[in-house]
Amino acid sequence: MKKSSVLLLVVILAVIAGAFFLKNEPKQAGLLNGAKSKYDLSFVLDDVEKGHFTASSKIEVENASGDSWDHLQFYFIPNAFTQGNKPESVQGTATANIANVKLNEKESKYTLTGDQLEVDLDEKLEPGKKVKVTIDYDFTVPSGSMRFNRDGDNFHLAQAYPMLPTYQNGEWNQVPYSSNYESYHTGFSDFTINAKAPKGYSIVSTAGQDFDLNKNSGEVSVENVKEVYLAFLKGDEMVTRSAGDIEIRVFSDQEHKDLINFAADIAEKAVDYYTENIGAYPDEQLDILLANDLALGMEYPGIVQAKAHSNYYKDLQNTVVHEVAHQWFYGIISNDPVRDPWVDEGITEFATVLFWKDKMDNTEKEARRILDLRLKVAERRGFEPQPSNLPAYSYDQTASAFVYGQPADKLWSLFKKYEGTKTAREFLQAYYNKYKYSQVTTEEFVSFTKDYFDMEDNLFFEDWLKLNGISKE
Ligand SMILES: [Zn+2]
Repeated sequence: MKKSSVLLLVVILAVIAGAFFLKNEPKQAGLLNGAKSKYDLSFVLDDVEKGHFTASSKIEVENASGDSWDHLQFYFIPNAFTQGNKPESVQGTATANIANVKLNEKESKYTLTGDQLEVDLDEKLEPGKKVKVTIDYDFTVPSGSMRFNRDGDNFHLAQAYPMLPTYQNGEWNQVPYSSNYESYHTGFSDFTINAKAPKGYSIVSTAGQDFDLNKNSGEVSVENVKEVYLAFLKGDEMVTRSAGDIEIRVFSDQEHKDLINFAADIAEKAVDYYTENIGAYPDEQLDILLANDLALGMEYPGIVQAKAHSNYYKDLQNTVVHEVAHQWFYGIISNDPVRDPWVDEGITEFATVLFWKDKMDNTEKEARRILDLRLKVAERRGFEPQPSNLPAYSYDQTASAFVYGQPADKLWSLFKKYEGTKTAREFLQAYYNKYKYSQVTTEEFVSFTKDYFDMEDNLFFEDWLKLNGISKE
């Protein structure tokens, strides 16, 4: 062959190979996020009496969108608990002070309104470019609070650092803090955390390889999580269980330690069930805190919290199972808790009922106990029916019925039509495999479910989802 023909052949082969690889590159499912971040955090508990922490966050922010940015936005949630900003239901008052904000080591201007921190960029951050943001700050933790809470000498640090919102559909996706729902939405990020406390404290966090419980300081890191949570604990009881390779640790204060084994036993079974039937748990450890908090329960990656109320141990166990299920539906499969709160809450509630029926062999009535209670309260109080996929701020007292209860009830009736629990397990597994580390919207869920069951129209969704703008095919 002539040299030119060889060259031509090489070019043709390269084009074919290129087309082949392009076609086979897996397309990221779900809604994309144009704001990427990597965190290096530090927290020092330096005054227990005041509940005072000195903190620093170094955040590498990457513009992965197609737009030029002239500013950055962050959630700075400690400031939502200060005098004048805090929710009425919170007893104590936080303080939160930013000492300085630096961009690539240079002092920068910023504005802070409630929990919304806006940082000016000297020059525009173009697509594909990164900037290093350093924020030094300090705060105190309010008691009688939710999530970001002081419980005796224990400190629960939820969202205690500046968090980068998602950048979606050409804008920063951020709403002001609300205590009525989860008002923050973040992408998957990597974290390194340094923490230090006075002697006698143990530090427990999102990380799978966690702080040494016998030391009062250390460094941990964790990858690909939506957020990180830390608890500084003093004198808590702990029990452990294992589910396969996963270690489960349950912590409780002395007052509620009689509940600790109820929580541990059910957590072990739930982790077993979900790893076996839905998909792998991403780390080697899951922590459960029994705590005094205004919230009944709350999920964070690698760690969950359940209210230590001893009225009825089965209620506590149901909360634990619900929060454990969130490790899959929220922790691994993401959704926007403001725009689509039902996507994790409804499916988590469904997965909870499924666990009680399928793994624990409860009757259907027993398995649906909390779900039916949610629906009954709505009936008794005469709530007007609402679709399940409205934004979180559209529900007042009605979220329990319509964001949690209604989707779980509808899915339950769907799977009963299709051979029940076996189909439900397979469906959730296929859903996990398609959407792990992606963000699911209502539209995406509808299209996935229709494909899965070969539905020809939207009939199944019509009486519980608002379908404006969602394809009928
Ligand atoms: Zn939940």
